[in-house]
Amino acid sequence: MSDAQQRLFETDPDPWDLDAREQWIASVVFPEGPVGPFDYLVPENLLDQAQAGRRVRAPLGKANRLTTGYCVALASRIADRPLKPLAEVVDARRLLSATMLRLTAWIAEHYLCPWGLVLHAVVPAGVRLQAGTRLVTLVRPVEDLPERLEGRTLAPKQKAVIEALLAAGRPLPAAELAARAGCGLGPVNTLRRRGLLRAETRRADTASLKEAPQPPRQEHLVLNPDQQRALEAILAAVRAGKPETILVHGVTGSGKTEVYIQAIADVVRRGRQGIVLVPEISLTPQTVERFRARFDRVAVLHSHLSDVERHQHWQRIADGGVQVVVGARSAIFSPTPNAGLIVLDEEHEASFKQDSAPRYHAREVALARSREDRIPLVLGSATPALESWHRACCGAYRLVEMPRRVFDRPLPAVGTLDLRQDAVVRHSRGAVSRQLHVAIEGALRDGGQVILLLNRRGFSTHIQCPACGHAVKCPECEIALTHHRTEEIVLCHYCDYRLPAPAACPACGFAGIRYSGVGTQRLEAEIRARFPGVACLRMDTDSMRSRGAHEKALAAFRSGTARILLGTQMIAKGLDFPGVTLVGVINADMALHLPDFRAAERTFQLVTQVAGRTGRGEKGGRVLVQTFNPDHAAILAAVHHDYAAFAASELPLRQILSYPPFGVMIRLVVRGPKEQFVTLFAQTLGQRLGESLERHAPGARLLGPAPAPFAKLRGHFRIQIQLQGPDGDALRAAVREATAGLEPPEEVQWIVDVDPLDML
Ligand code: ADP
Ligand code: ZN
Repeated sequence: MSDAQQRLFETDPDPWDLDAREQWIASVVFPEGPVGPFDYLVPENLLDQAQAGRRVRAPLGKANRLTTGYCVALASRIADRPLKPLAEVVDARRLLSATMLRLTAWIAEHYLCPWGLVLHAVVPAGVRLQAGTRLVTLVRPVEDLPERLEGRTLAPKQKAVIEALLAAGRPLPAAELAARAGCGLGPVNTLRRRGLLRAETRRADTASLKEAPQPPRQEHLVLNPDQQRALEAILAAVRAGKPETILVHGVTGSGKTEVYIQAIADVVRRGRQGIVLVPEISLTPQTVERFRARFDRVAVLHSHLSDVERHQHWQRIADGGVQVVVGARSAIFSPTPNAGLIVLDEEHEASFKQDSAPRYHAREVALARSREDRIPLVLGSATPALESWHRACCGAYRLVEMPRRVFDRPLPAVGTLDLRQDAVVRHSRGAVSRQLHVAIEGALRDGGQVILLLNRRGFSTHIQCPACGHAVKCPECEIALTHHRTEEIVLCHYCDYRLPAPAACPACGFAGIRYSGVGTQRLEAEIRARFPGVACLRMDTDSMRSRGAHEKALAAFRSGTARILLGTQMIAKGLDFPGVTLVGVINADMALHLPDFRAAERTFQLVTQVAGRTGRGEKGGRVLVQTFNPDHAAILAAVHHDYAAFAASELPLRQILSYPPFGVMIRLVVRGPKEQFVTLFAQTLGQRLGESLERHAPGARLLGPAPAPFAKLRGHFRIQIQLQGPDGDALRAAVREATAGLEPPEEVQWIVDVDPLDML
């Protein structure tokens, strides 16, 4: 944090030892344009409303345009120049606590994002708009009504109004009061004019929070020794009031969630709140019910909430009316008044990183919040991100291992099927090898259920003319279009560009254009043909578009109505189905050769996670992984359930190239519709970065400017620049200097991504 920011957070001085020349000064940050903070004078009439964390309206720029911004600090000091006064205080209560203001300042600093933009992103739109409330005017009697009435005679209707108001015993809207008194608004207004009634404006809810019915109460489970140890490690940190980070490395099905729940129960008994972050996809009824069955007041924050619902939850959390917040990424900004513990489950998940500004990672923000609130942070995963693992190995985090499944259930046996050897897959265009077919048959015969993972949507993934070689690509993205058979279209998975599926080559007109490559739709057709009469469900973003489809599909699979569940990575995560005895991975290599230094890590995580979906019941389970690279370290480690071996093979490779966790990376992408402007600007930016790196971070690496792996996306050409070095602050300083005052030409945009996860 800079000195200037530090000063902003100093506590307000005592009002009585004010120097006469001191004035109340508000520092205001604006969400767009010049960000600030800028100082404003707090005029006398706003002194009782102004507060750090509330929004204000203030004149901005030469034109003094009234603009809404966030008051980030309030202090009595001597101004060094004449200040403009605030025009208005917008909020009746503060939207951001002092902690949240510091946290947002940290995010702005760390992720090179304007502070105002961070503030704007942290306060949900529904809260800013006060969605679900409206201003109502209420009428109440003046305090000295009895004295004022003495010796006066009132018209009968006026008398009826006063009587109705006193009978109600609370302020009433004018129309309601008139109705109760059996008259029009006339007498009410007369009484107000005569100073007997007073009107006041207040914000009232227009709708009340819809509560899901409380599930039957569940008692805590009796923990096994591994769980007990994990719980004690967390509670020790809670008791010590230390901002310690605990990495719970627990295999799939080791009972991590039960540990989180019991740790939070302890925190709640101390009158504090728990915050649980899970990937959006895990916010299934199954997870949510587990929390709601143990706590009375749980707020569930998922992306489908309306503005009104979000505002209502937010208000209730801020009022301390919620014990546990369970939510996706942005729940880390929950305004809990007295948080006691933060849990981030499946901490390796890429969805914890936001892909638009501010490009924050919820794990890093949680870490910063745990420092601010001085509370522990629990990170949980069967396959921790190597960044987290490395920090645990260095001693920055406390590592707790949960190497066994509950009831000592064995981890499933994982076998590989070498696709190079398989004639079925090579010569027919099928996706299921002979051995996998036999295994599915066996599992179904024994009454088990089957999960099949294929991380690619659509029917055919590759469309090419054998006569002229033309491949059908998206004109906006230069990426192969995927055939979707349900609508008979070819579709771009990046920009949604679509065409009717061509029957002949669009380039040469040859009628034998070839559709190949297997997506989930084709796999579904193949499975239905291979196992006629067996109920099969497909889960991917296409089949799960409608609201509630996800829950419905999972319920059908849970009840056993469906025997085979196939789909993209959305089936790999966090699901707990005891009936599943076989998991098949159709092609484990899909992500292995992407130009991304995390390709092996992603592959290892995906295979391990999907393997974890089986063997959770009494019947046990097995996993078959089809692959062209059965000897790859990532695949081998997944086969042996050996995270440590994977980390040991991968970390040295990262170290050699100074990739995270051994170096900090900042990625800049320049994009725009006109290639030459994009290139030109990227060159300028690259040159300036090169010079500022020399000054701030000599020895740091500068890669590019070079075309991004997706060199064109949605009609925009993309050029990337990558910085790598041991000292993140030095890299940030270099970027700040190189980009200060830099104006890209029209139609060219640039973004900066600190600690990027998306390398394409
Ligand atoms: P993880 O989060 O590590 O994948 P879960 O917490 O989901 O594991 O536990 C897996 C299953 O085991 C769940 O169905 C859960 O109810 C059950 N379970 C967890 N802990 C215990 C325990 N101590 N005794 C009995 N069952 C347990
Ligand atoms: Zn496209």
